[in-house]
Amino acid sequence: MIECDVCVVGAGLAGLTAGVRAAESGLRVVVLERSADPEYLCNSRLTGGAFHVCLNDIQSNADVLEQVIRTATRGAAHAGLARAIAEDARRAVKWLQSQGIRFIKGGSEPHHNFVLSPPSLQRVGSDWRGRGGDVLLRTLGGALAKHGGQLLRGHRALELDIADGRCTGVKGNADGVPFEVRAQAVVIADGGFQCDADLVRENISPAPDKVLQRNARSGLGDGVRMARAAGARLSDLVGFYGHVMNRNAMTDDRLWPLPWMDNVATSAIVVNAQGGRFVDEGRGGVYIANRIAGLPDPLSAFVVFDQPLWEGPGTSRFLPPNPNMEKCGGAIFRADSLEALAGQLGIASQALAATVATYNEAIERDTLEALQPPRSPKAYRAMPIRTAPFYGVPVCAGMTYTMGGLAIDEWSRAMDAHGEPFLGLYAAGGSSGGLEGGENIGYVGGLSKAATTGLRAAEHIVKTRQAAHA
Ligand SMILES: Cc1cc2nc3c(=O)[nH]c(=O)nc-3n(C[C@H](O)[C@H](O)[C@H](O)COP(=O)(O)OP(=O)(O)OC[C@H]3O[C@@H](n4cnc5c(N)ncnc54)[C@H](O)[C@@H]3O)c2cc1C
Repeated sequence: MIECDVCVVGAGLAGLTAGVRAAESGLRVVVLERSADPEYLCNSRLTGGAFHVCLNDIQSNADVLEQVIRTATRGAAHAGLARAIAEDARRAVKWLQSQGIRFIKGGSEPHHNFVLSPPSLQRVGSDWRGRGGDVLLRTLGGALAKHGGQLLRGHRALELDIADGRCTGVKGNADGVPFEVRAQAVVIADGGFQCDADLVRENISPAPDKVLQRNARSGLGDGVRMARAAGARLSDLVGFYGHVMNRNAMTDDRLWPLPWMDNVATSAIVVNAQGGRFVDEGRGGVYIANRIAGLPDPLSAFVVFDQPLWEGPGTSRFLPPNPNMEKCGGAIFRADSLEALAGQLGIASQALAATVATYNEAIERDTLEALQPPRSPKAYRAMPIRTAPFYGVPVCAGMTYTMGGLAIDEWSRAMDAHGEPFLGLYAAGGSSGGLEGGENIGYVGGLSKAATTGLRAAEHIVKTRQAAHA
């Protein structure tokens, strides 16, 4: 039996932030990490490294950021949690800087003002080594040890100990050997449930194996399952953060995490195997990816566009699909007519031609919102599809992390079935829910969420303990 003040489940950014913050305040901390590998892969290690709040600069006024979160989630974000992120994302970055983590300005857009250094090359394979996320985890791991905390790799937490309605520790398995940790507080920070086929089938896609795991494959859903078994409240689990990817990425690692098709898809049309639109492309790439994942066959969607679109939005942003997608092995079909393109894609040619004609006419008449499904006109400019060659790209949904999880409040406290704090239980980062998601699949930011909720969990644990000993 291991005894400590704080037991953290998961050693990504959220877990190590919580662990180091608690340890530097004098608490005895044990961080459990499922993987035994000293270079254990997790989303924090693969990350692109941009700290932002809904793609806004984290230094913006807190009132502005709070409003931005409310707008992005169409009001679905827990109010206290939205305020916490708006107020503390910058403070969390400052705290990381105080631990020796370095940031750079990674580009001209506001969400690139704080990017982990050295910046990621955005490729899989060994390219994460020595990059921002890798350095982040090594630095925080060192800080944990310096403050007397323990990182136990190869320890997978599987069950919460509950006594008198309070969480008192966790049980798990270390290479086939059961272990038990007794703690005053437990912080679940296991990164989400994106790799749990049953939870994904229940909440996100009827066919989990047809959704691309655009992540480190370390989010196994243990946190959600442990919390559910213990009677903790879960948030809305239906949304995930992800992107529209070339379908060949399902089998070719050169095609993820970039390039993605979001910039093209949001100016073009996305059709199903029958040649009809099924999603409001104007609501953004994350939203489109979620709708593709929800199709009866998530591997049956295509982005259809023309030459000006390929030369315009197709070349915008970092590592754009034009020309990188084909270079990395992505399938892209071209034809001089829509009929010929439909033939290549294996979809009904008359239906595709009719869909394109209706869409072009709606742009001309400014009636995009009257289309079925409607096409929101404001956030992304819809471009007509008229000029050959015409293009069709078979796409899939790339899932980075699930947005839902344990329902938490502004201090990262888990909630019980009645919406009251579940004593002794906290959640942070990709394990937590209530901030992102909602009907709009509102994306706030995985790193800001992980650092802020981890920091706040630790600070609440410390405060509670000080109050108890006063
Ligand atoms: C390619 C890529 C690019 C990204 N780019 C950005 C970006 O630029 N900006 C941004 O804001 N977000 C980005 N994200 C998302 C962001 O990186 C994550 O949201 C964030 O790192 C999540 O941190 P976490 O600590 O919650 O989870 P993780 O980093 O996934 O850590 C969870 C840890 O828990 C461990 N674990 C799981 N189950 C158990 C268990 N039962 N017991 C013990 N340990 C367990 C896992 O092995 C893992 O190490 C990106 C993600 C990816 C994959």
